[in-house]
Amino acid sequence: MDMWRGIPREEIPWFPTIDDSKCTGCGECLSICKNGVLGFDESSRTAQVTNPYNCVVECSTCARLCPTEAISFPDQAAFSEFIKQKLATGEKP
Ligand code: SF4
Ligand code: SF4
Repeated sequence: MDMWRGIPREEIPWFPTIDDSKCTGCGECLSICKNGVLGFDESSRTAQVTNPYNCVVECSTCARLCPTEAISFPDQAAFSEFIKQKLATGEKP
């Protein structure tokens, strides 16, 4: 199982969310991400999150590059607090 700072990666809710209604299917995010997180749905002609836990924790490059702001991530401050709590409860390496 993949771990991040001693926490199972699948317990870390950091991955993109794509708003289909804003996605134009330009493919910019698919070009930039080399981690296999995103895929393209031919029927809807939109990008989709296919492997969320392949996302690099705290990376948000695709969201910054999306021309229509269709990609979002958790609030950074709330996420930092979540990780702090998680580490404090003993789930350490
Ligand atoms: S960069 Fe944005 S608009 Fe383009 S395919 Fe990705 S999510 Fe859709
Ligand atoms: S945040 Fe980074 S690793 Fe995650 S999907 Fe976007 S480009 Fe890929």
